[in-house]
Amino acid sequence: MTTPILFKNARVFDGSSADCPEGMWVLVADGLIQEISSTPIAAPHAQSIDCAGRTLMPGLIDAHVHAFASDVNVANLESLGETYRTAHAVRMLGHSLQCGFTTVRDVGGGNYSLYRALADGLITGPRYLYSGKVLSMTGGHGDFRDMSERPRYQSTCACSSGSLFNAVAVIADGVDECIKAARDELRQGAHCIKIMGSGGVASLTDPIWMNQYREDEIRAIVRECEERRSYVTAHCHPASAVRRCVEYGVRTIEHGTLIDDETARFVAAHGAYIVPTMATIFALTELGRELGFPAESQLKMDVAFKSALSGMDAMRRANVKVCFGTDLLGKTYTQQCREFLLRSEVFTPVEILRQATTMNPEMMMMSGRLGCVAVGAEADLLLVDGDPLSDISLLAADGRHLSVILRGGELIKPRSGS
Ligand SMILES: [Zn+2]
Repeated sequence: MTTPILFKNARVFDGSSADCPEGMWVLVADGLIQEISSTPIAAPHAQSIDCAGRTLMPGLIDAHVHAFASDVNVANLESLGETYRTAHAVRMLGHSLQCGFTTVRDVGGGNYSLYRALADGLITGPRYLYSGKVLSMTGGHGDFRDMSERPRYQSTCACSSGSLFNAVAVIADGVDECIKAARDELRQGAHCIKIMGSGGVASLTDPIWMNQYREDEIRAIVRECEERRSYVTAHCHPASAVRRCVEYGVRTIEHGTLIDDETARFVAAHGAYIVPTMATIFALTELGRELGFPAESQLKMDVAFKSALSGMDAMRRANVKVCFGTDLLGKTYTQQCREFLLRSEVFTPVEILRQATTMNPEMMMMSGRLGCVAVGAEADLLLVDGDPLSDISLLAADGRHLSVILRGGELIKPRSGS
């Protein structure tokens, strides 16, 4: 049981409206926001925090992380093993929470075991949603073998229909294997199913422009998720992949880097979401070579880098529902907050704030529960020293301008008693 907390005299950004009321009182108890009022709330047993006019806002949400991606080179992910990857996850998630991210959605490699370690308090980190292993076709973006490697099948695989898998992805080909793999991830608590809908940067053998998975495979996975009241998100760089995935029922596109105006309008018209990931594109363009990113991948990253900001601008012009994600690998995890600055090249502060608060839960089918200051919502809150609606860089300083971080009603910063 955590102590109830009463925020007094706060300026409140509720996650959507740019008109932030001042002098507000907000009561938190049992992990939820219980009461919001413009007049004083009586709560004698609550710990009170005088906000002195500072901005109280929803905790940030990063909809694209990989907790287990301990290295920029996916080959090293395998060779260093699960313990190393877990150690990275602990460090990365701890940092993320201190930056003000109270929820992350892991879209490749996350699992129930890590979720439970967080839920049971063995590790301190954000609220954790995971898609499990990404479904990839053979030779697709989730197939990390290089060209010289001979086919290899693991008959003892506990993952799916005797297929190949690695730390991030499971290989599934054909409708039957795709259905089985999707069902098995959902069985293990996957929040959604992610598929590799196009070529990618970190994989070695697939061109970035390539569409991946056939229509029948994608539609079959979408149907499984709909039955589960979940959804499919697809990794896509090229415009063609974005368009066909949305046409086949995919709810969310990850990256969308090489999108054009026409495709952006198509996405907007279908009400689909895109999670651009600027932080990883910039971080790896700058540091990839030094951190051991393979030369083949670096060449593909140059293609993504050239279109990253203009692609996001096409999304803005078409009024696409843009979400907030970072996709950082290995040591670049420290650049998570940089996403706010990179987006400010295209979006206004309030637009970026909405992406990282209300838009992400809408995409995740969790509106009203996460990413908002509203009665009944999870008490994930930040108290910002200053006004992030006029200065977004306040959120880009690794938590230095956050005097309070609350996750699920629990005081993360300052620590209780301090
Ligand atoms: Zn990713």
